[in-house]
Amino acid sequence: MITIWGVPVVATVEQVIKDIKLQLYGTGLLKEINNTGSDLMITCPFHKGGKENKPSCGVLLKEKVLRDKKYEAGTVHCYTCGYTADLPQFVADVLGLENSLAGYRWLVGRYNYSAAEREPLDLNLYRGQAQKSSYMDEEEVERYNRELLNSFEACEYLHKRRLANWILDAYKLGYDPVDKTVLFPVRDTEGRVVFYKGRSLAGKHFYNAKDIDKSSLVFGLWELCNGHFSQGVATPDSEIWITESEIDALSLVTYGLYAVAIMGSHISDAQCRELERAPFRRYVLATDNDEAGRKGAVQIKRMLIPKGFRFTNLRWDTDLKDINDLVKQYGDRWVDYLTGY
Ligand SMILES: [Zn+2]
Repeated sequence: MITIWGVPVVATVEQVIKDIKLQLYGTGLLKEINNTGSDLMITCPFHKGGKENKPSCGVLLKEKVLRDKKYEAGTVHCYTCGYTADLPQFVADVLGLENSLAGYRWLVGRYNYSAAEREPLDLNLYRGQAQKSSYMDEEEVERYNRELLNSFEACEYLHKRRLANWILDAYKLGYDPVDKTVLFPVRDTEGRVVFYKGRSLAGKHFYNAKDIDKSSLVFGLWELCNGHFSQGVATPDSEIWITESEIDALSLVTYGLYAVAIMGSHISDAQCRELERAPFRRYVLATDNDEAGRKGAVQIKRMLIPKGFRFTNLRWDTDLKDINDLVKQYGDRWVDYLTGY
């Protein structure tokens, strides 16, 4: 077992390199692979058109500390051309993926233990429970999105909550004109919409369009990993705000911050696993400014600090209850009413 950006995966460096070689089958890249004991030597794909005869590119088999800097297993260094990268970056470069985050997802998607554990559950334990394997039709999501953009009432509702216009499209928010309810699609790590959170225009009434266990998903996490933000893709160093409601998270996104919502004051084991599978470890705790919110924040820390997560706590210098209330009340000055520590 090795770790990738701190996340354990059930694989050896050798296995990963062999799988990449398989993926490159027919290109002649990664032709030779020799194990020296500390490194895997591979033919470098980045110089001589990838056609060198003697492997001169080393891949670390185990984590190594060199001059106070930690190099994870899988770190790649070519002694001829000088190419150096961690494993996610190497995967991205050699397979032509968009960036290291895409490389990370390629790796964790393949080898992460919680993903591996979950598969048999999906196949056996939950068989017959339709909601575990059914997703919302993306066409339906689009249709609700068009309804939203065509509804003056619904758009006004979201503008009053100060959500930026581009968010309605980026998150494919929707509107059900029959129930007069604004819909927030909640996606799994594959980007499939598992259910909608709804807000009735008639009052502050929430509902889940389907009676399904909402506690296994984190709202906004897929969008965070896939660059649905004005400032682009979040990186492992990015600071992520964690809120209770999706509208709080989207308020923060409107202000150019990265944010996710746990859709309640309590985080579940399954949500912790979802967060663990994502590469982000720095969070700002922005649960509600009430008793339940403070308890929720303590619980989040208790569950995730042992997993290597780090948190910034907030002190609220106001009686307002949540981030969206702050934004509605104070506009651009909302952040003046929070003190981080
Ligand atoms: Zn090279």
